[in-house]
Amino acid sequence: MAASLSAAFGLSGFSGPVGAALKQLDPKHIPRLIYLQGLSCSGCSVSLLQAESPSPLTMITDYSQLLFHGDLSAASGPRVMELLDSYVDGRAGEYFLALEGAIPEGMPEACMLGEHTLIRYLEKAARTMTGAVAIGSCATYGGIPAAEGNLTGAVSLPEFYRKRQLEPLMITIPGCSVHPDWVWHTISHIVRVGIPKLNKYGSPEIFFGRKVHDSCPRYHYFQEEILARHLGEEGCLFKVGCLGPEALADCPSRWWNGGQTWCVNANAPCVGCTAPIFARSKNFPFYRHSGTG
Ligand code: SF4
Ligand code: SF4
Repeated sequence: MAASLSAAFGLSGFSGPVGAALKQLDPKHIPRLIYLQGLSCSGCSVSLLQAESPSPLTMITDYSQLLFHGDLSAASGPRVMELLDSYVDGRAGEYFLALEGAIPEGMPEACMLGEHTLIRYLEKAARTMTGAVAIGSCATYGGIPAAEGNLTGAVSLPEFYRKRQLEPLMITIPGCSVHPDWVWHTISHIVRVGIPKLNKYGSPEIFFGRKVHDSCPRYHYFQEEILARHLGEEGCLFKVGCLGPEALADCPSRWWNGGQTWCVNANAPCVGCTAPIFARSKNFPFYRHSGTG
């Protein structure tokens, strides 16, 4: 099955040697993945399903074994609860946990899995999982659910474990939403090579090693102080709210939507969706008036 899927969906997203190595994977040794969702809009899941190469199907059957996903799994009810319990209780073997969304620490009943809170599952999982992957800015930093006001007491996955003095292996992949390559290529790296090199926020350096600003094609405008005053104008978008100087991400070279475009190329300021400050405070609105009329 693995060979036929590889042939059907291709491996052009990887370098030759990595692609060749992935084709030889032993299905018995691919990581099992449990994908849970907290306070989330499911936007990251939707984005993950837009991956081009490898396809999402290849990723969740050949390079990982997706045991459960709230939106994708056909199974439900007691069967799923028994499956989840068997893993988080440590009876079923090794697994990675992926969490999309923030955790409602101040309102635990806001996120339930069957009869129990998401919080209960995350606490148990910390003792049995091989590691965790925080998917998206809500899971990584709190994101929109933790915005000023924060009625549910939303916290990120790293903060959740830090408060409990638990230190599971953790990889964070910020973004609102995440780029599918950031997640799938990280999982491929885990499968073939091991844990990728991480930056100080626990995110893979290969994607989150440089600020958007530093490789932006409009950086020369910034240096020359040619600053757009309105959306749609030529020039650096700093005065209309661009947070490229705050955001670590490779969007200027990776682009989005299968290489069609990316925020600044579409004349929209970077809203800093991968940055810790994203959506946290009213002081950082998505767009700003230039104040020059
Ligand atoms: S448009 Fe944004 S990211 Fe690009 S140079 Fe200006 S401030 Fe930096
Ligand atoms: S350019 Fe900025 S807002 Fe756009 S996807 Fe990249 S980090 Fe997010």
